[in-house]
Amino acid sequence: MNADPHIITTPPKLMRAIRSAMAGTESVQERLDHFVRAIRSSMQVEVASIYLLRAGEDLELSATQGLKRSAVHKTRMKPGEGLVGHVALTARPLNLADAPSHPLFSYRPETGEDPFNSFLGVPILRGGRTLGVLVVQSKTSRTFSEEEVEDLLTVAMVLAEIIVDDERVGGKKAALKGIALSPTKPETVTGRAFAPGLARGVAVLHQPPVAPANLLAENIALEEVRLERAIAELRRNVDAMVSGEVAGITRASREIFDAYRTFAYDRKWVGRLREAVHSGLTAEAAVERVRNEHRARLMKVRDPYLRARLHDLEDLANRMLRLLAGEGTERAVPDDAILFARELGPAELLDYDREKLAAVVLEEGTPSSHTSIIARALGLPLVGRAQGVLDKIETGDTVLVDAEDGRVHLRPLETQISGFQLRLNIRGEMTRAYDQLRFRRAVTQDGQEVDLMLNAGLLVDLPQLDQAGADGIGLFRTEFQFMVSDFMPRLQQQTELYRKAIEAAGDRPVTFRTLDLGGDKILPYMDPIPEENPAIGWRAIRIGLDRPGLMRYQLRALVAAGAGRHLRIMFPMVTVVDEFIEAKALFTREIARASKLGLELPAKVEVGVMLETPSLAWQVDAVCDHADFVSVGANDLLQFFFASDRDNARVSDRYDPLSPAALSMMSFIADRCRLNDTPVSVCGEIAGRPLEAMALVALGYHSLSMPVTGIGPVKSAVMALDAEALRDLIVPNLRVTTRLRSLREPIAEFCADNGIPI
Ligand code: PEP
Ligand code: MG
Repeated sequence: MNADPHIITTPPKLMRAIRSAMAGTESVQERLDHFVRAIRSSMQVEVASIYLLRAGEDLELSATQGLKRSAVHKTRMKPGEGLVGHVALTARPLNLADAPSHPLFSYRPETGEDPFNSFLGVPILRGGRTLGVLVVQSKTSRTFSEEEVEDLLTVAMVLAEIIVDDERVGGKKAALKGIALSPTKPETVTGRAFAPGLARGVAVLHQPPVAPANLLAENIALEEVRLERAIAELRRNVDAMVSGEVAGITRASREIFDAYRTFAYDRKWVGRLREAVHSGLTAEAAVERVRNEHRARLMKVRDPYLRARLHDLEDLANRMLRLLAGEGTERAVPDDAILFARELGPAELLDYDREKLAAVVLEEGTPSSHTSIIARALGLPLVGRAQGVLDKIETGDTVLVDAEDGRVHLRPLETQISGFQLRLNIRGEMTRAYDQLRFRRAVTQDGQEVDLMLNAGLLVDLPQLDQAGADGIGLFRTEFQFMVSDFMPRLQQQTELYRKAIEAAGDRPVTFRTLDLGGDKILPYMDPIPEENPAIGWRAIRIGLDRPGLMRYQLRALVAAGAGRHLRIMFPMVTVVDEFIEAKALFTREIARASKLGLELPAKVEVGVMLETPSLAWQVDAVCDHADFVSVGANDLLQFFFASDRDNARVSDRYDPLSPAALSMMSFIADRCRLNDTPVSVCGEIAGRPLEAMALVALGYHSLSMPVTGIGPVKSAVMALDAEALRDLIVPNLRVTTRLRSLREPIAEFCADNGIPI
């Protein structure tokens, strides 16, 4: 390689010819004609032809020198058909000395191509999509040299840009209209709804491809130097990310960065970049070309691991292009942006302006990932596991996100849009109706008062207390702060968050749940301990009691935040009563410590227990002797009760919380708590679903804590409910002899008969 910028290396002859073909201001068709002329003369072949993919279907001969001109815009073939179709399908060059003997050779008399033996076809790629095929043929039987293949690939890339330019102006300049360069078809991708809601907006890619400004090198030596510098800088960059020098690294992204490093040091990848520059491209265009080649190949791969690597490579290429351009990464986001990403860290999501975002679509993600949690907290619809969606979407596309049933409609038809808009309007009306109820207490028709509380955990949740008209925070998931931080939150930071939550609630109660880590809630800065069954493994209070340092540290922050206030805390995942007693003793020690230091103590303290293991349901009397209140963590309780993993889509919806078995247990817990005079509430998703919430009220639960989206619908249902009447319907069905699978239908009928909105 010649790395001295002062030595000007002249671009190869073909590149010079191409450059002059590009200099004019002709129509695209004229340019294509120029191209094939330039290729034919500088490569000394008899035929040079361009085939373009029309409307995403057929390849059409769009320009030629050497074949019959009358065949232009007439000869067509399907991708996969003949040699040209084969190149389009495989997205790889095909170099043959004796083309007619190839099994895929198909004879086209109208083109007059029979006397040609040698064939070299290269794909015209852009953004990983095949736009067409560039072909040269000659009478003499020979294999084209590696350099010739490279040159033709380079020309194909330049060609791709010209065609795309044409598309950008609507194909008016040439007869190219109808050539499918970017996807235009409406498509629906099915994923899973990780945060509910509906949204209509425009697609924005979290990591958009960066288009190179200049394609052809003025000075190859200079481009070589630029490329080497960028490679070195990229490697430094990636090394720093992997070693964690860059703040903001999370465990998931570290895995990705490891993959980046593999690529950044991959000799083949770097070798391809160097070859591309050597063939006359700018460093940027070289990155783009190599990216296109990889992309076109990997897009055909089904293996999810390899496909994930494709995106790593994309990201890496984008980074490289930014380095070459010497620019930062900020981007303007339009209104109603629907953000598309493979995976998104919580901090990355929070970097976006919430006001501009309408929804998020991820190729990966899990319902309990931090990003999903934050999306729910922000009321931002999120569809995850939308496989392959990044290959089908382009910035600016219209998108409908249905995060009720996990579907994403790309480039929808007008009819789809109007149907969807109707649903959006209905939702808007319902929201306005719920707003009207904001300042009203949830009291049933038969006079039972129900507290509707919010599940929260982050600062962003707090304004929703007032917006939704919640009666307090029934579950403050303190682990969220730990999960979304890059480092362990310090005492001061913990205290501040808790204090802000108490302040935001005013005189409404806030119940802090101590750290519920482990299981699926893993901290980025802690090495996970691999477990076969993390949900029933070393988690929550089990960690807290085994490593009391962390728990005491948190309790200290809670005591400090509660100074002079009403402090309510509860412990998660208690399985036997002794665990609760032990945890409570740690809290008592923290109170004693604060008192000894002369710190201001909370004005009132209540220590409760979360009932989320079936075993504790059978010790409820015993735990009531020690706990100031009981909060039923129905998410976990039901997953353990039904032995069905709440995060496993195959089983999570298999059992009904409104089954007689589950309702019997819930009824038993409520009854025992009432007899013990211990306040009881339910937190967890079911508390936020109107039907389930009404059943709970009927069974005697007068405090429900739920995600913000549940408060309006539950309030309007509860206010229309005669709880005693529903109780009369449910209780007789809870006999152990019942064969009824679920009470959902009878309860729904009850609602319909009694005009209860659900
Ligand atoms: C529950 O298990 O019901 C609960 C509220 O806790 P989490 O969802 O945080 O496990
Ligand atoms: Mg739980």
